[in-house]
Amino acid sequence: MTTATDKNQQLFERALKVIPGGVNSPVRAFKAVGGTPRFVQRAQGAYFWDANGQRYTDYIGSWGPMILGHGHPAVVDAVQKALLEGFSFGAPTEREVELAEEILSLVPSMEMLRLVSSGTEAAMSTIRLARGATGRNKIIKFEGCYHGHADALLVKAGSGLATFGSATSAGVPPEVVQHTLVLEYNHIAQLEEAFALHGKDIACLMIEPIAGNMNFVRASVPFMQRCRELCTQYGALLVLDEVMTGFRVALGSAQSVYAKAIPGFAPDMTVLGKVIGGGMPLAAFGGSRAVMEHLAPMGAVYQAGTLSGNPVATACGLATLREIRKPGFYEALAQSTQSLVSGLQAAADAEGVAFCSDSEGGMFGFFLLDQLPQNYPQVMKTSSPRFNQLFHGLLDRGVYIAPALYEAGFVSSAHTAEDIAATIEAARAVFKELSKA
Ligand code: PMP
Repeated sequence: MTTATDKNQQLFERALKVIPGGVNSPVRAFKAVGGTPRFVQRAQGAYFWDANGQRYTDYIGSWGPMILGHGHPAVVDAVQKALLEGFSFGAPTEREVELAEEILSLVPSMEMLRLVSSGTEAAMSTIRLARGATGRNKIIKFEGCYHGHADALLVKAGSGLATFGSATSAGVPPEVVQHTLVLEYNHIAQLEEAFALHGKDIACLMIEPIAGNMNFVRASVPFMQRCRELCTQYGALLVLDEVMTGFRVALGSAQSVYAKAIPGFAPDMTVLGKVIGGGMPLAAFGGSRAVMEHLAPMGAVYQAGTLSGNPVATACGLATLREIRKPGFYEALAQSTQSLVSGLQAAADAEGVAFCSDSEGGMFGFFLLDQLPQNYPQVMKTSSPRFNQLFHGLLDRGVYIAPALYEAGFVSSAHTAEDIAATIEAARAVFKELSKA
């Protein structure tokens, strides 16, 4: 296809004139992998179609929310009904209470929650609340985990445990990140040392339990257990950022997966987004009543939002949750996700391509590496040129995976066994090319 006939390219050129980088969120620009971003015209089920009318099997699903696939009839119906009743009121509604009740019934570690419009807002508000509730300033995060783009969370590790992080974005003053301590994921000794040094000043430890922002790296069970123990010992709040894993890896979210391995395990606070909005701008944060009652108007921690608890978004989220809580939903989703990763593994093995993969529920990751990485530096040992070749090879064959090697993938209930078999066949052809490279 030439530039003259490629409508994606034409739209990208138009977009570049009016939107920085031509996109409203950086990873969409294909900067890491090169080439022209696909401009989506419409989506249905497991597929979307680009501006040229080309169909792709979608393993991003809006970066996680579309667990039922696109345009699920029950969700479309709920959204259409809600739309006719009004788009936004800026006043309470029964539906937002219903959604809160539904989420709390499925994630028992939370007694109360507040709805917001994005994961960034939810994580940012959680940090403020943790600081307000504990009267402490310092926070712990882990290298490779992403919690949205609030200033205090755009940090990389400092030169040692005594030094706090430095900003990863221009425009973030050093003073704003001086209280954020960035540690290596899955490194128990370093975690213990950090608490020994700073424990009594730490308001919260925030972690992605399965880190989808470094493709797919699980917090090991002993590491998660140590996070829990040290937070309890020093009076810091353990915050699980389940924006990606929430209702994606299991009906009880990743915390239910850890609770199976660690008796009595529960976080103090949970950050949710993506699936709970079913593709609409909706996120939440919650925890114990004692902590949540520090929020305004009850308490002294301010937090607010014009569109928070939006009636159309809550209708979309509720309809989504009602589908995914049906018996057998996660068993089937996990089974199709496993069949995808095991098929990819077999195809890579047959072609002699170094490959490893993991999945939980409807979330998966794979690496062009011999062994599953345990932390960010290990993830980044992946060869970018080889990943880019895999990405474009799949894209050319109508399979859309994340355009960056540090992002997770998602399977929806709309992906059929035939879709997955076709994806494995496409990957087999690309692995053949990779084995010759
Ligand atoms: N936390 C995690 C774990 C995420 O994956 C993301 C976004 N991918 C966020 C927070 C931020 O969410 P949002 O993009 O809705 O602001």
